[in-house]
Amino acid sequence: MTEATRRLADAGVESPRVDAELLLGHVVGRSRAGLFTLDEVDDDAAARFGALLDQRADRVPLQHLTGRAAFRHLELAVGPGVFVPRPETELLVEWALERLTGLDGPIVVDLGSGSGAIALSIAHEHPGARVTAVERDPGAIEWTRHNALARAGKDTPVGVVAGDMTDPALLGEFDGRVEVVVSNPPYVPDGAVVPREVADHDPPLALWGGPDGLDVVRGMLSVAERLLRPGGHLGIEHADQQGTALPALVRAHGGFTDVEDHVDLAGRPRFTTARRREG
Ligand code: GLN
Repeated sequence: MTEATRRLADAGVESPRVDAELLLGHVVGRSRAGLFTLDEVDDDAAARFGALLDQRADRVPLQHLTGRAAFRHLELAVGPGVFVPRPETELLVEWALERLTGLDGPIVVDLGSGSGAIALSIAHEHPGARVTAVERDPGAIEWTRHNALARAGKDTPVGVVAGDMTDPALLGEFDGRVEVVVSNPPYVPDGAVVPREVADHDPPLALWGGPDGLDVVRGMLSVAERLLRPGGHLGIEHADQQGTALPALVRAHGGFTDVEDHVDLAGRPRFTTARRREG
């Protein structure tokens, strides 16, 4: 394990020991804790572990190698073509769930759903919520659908809709009736330097948001305003450097009140919330 950890560290992997342990655990079918009592690895497992280490050293995301990503209470299938959900997005879901407390069958829309992490978590944690996941990327939506299907029969079904969050006609049937619109949109400024795992493996449509990273959000605000009921809630994730610019954009739009910014667990500015103006 020391040797495996060193290999990943030399390759610039950020958490080399944890990744090596999770990959070995994946190969032998054990948790990380379960590895303590593992005394022998047969040749076949050792070879498979070696091959996965090679790929991780080549900066393939850990979650693509295990095929799974943990997000809140769920495990989602992920792989080439879909954005790997990040822990910092979990707090945005927490915020959305708090807005739904006590409501019976609220309508929720997740714009740019990818793996479905946000939409499926809300459906799981607020039973009865009527959640729609919107995704425009034909590759990514295969994963949205796959993960939604995997939850079928367990939670209230999530609707998956192929669509663009900036399309003025998106989800017209929900106009003025949505309780919460939530989104982790593409917001990375063009040209920003991101880790190889992100640059080479997350889908470009999930990342890049134009010169200041806010182009997609600019196009989405009017759609969110139209969908929300008066007083309904909007929550949008953003980059570390957008904690002033995004709230300013939402205020300037004019359709919203109560614009606030929130930090993530690491204390970095992470998402902006607002309510649709009443009347
Ligand atoms: N937070 C993502 C990253 O680390 C970017 C997510 C996005 O653009 N929605 O790359």
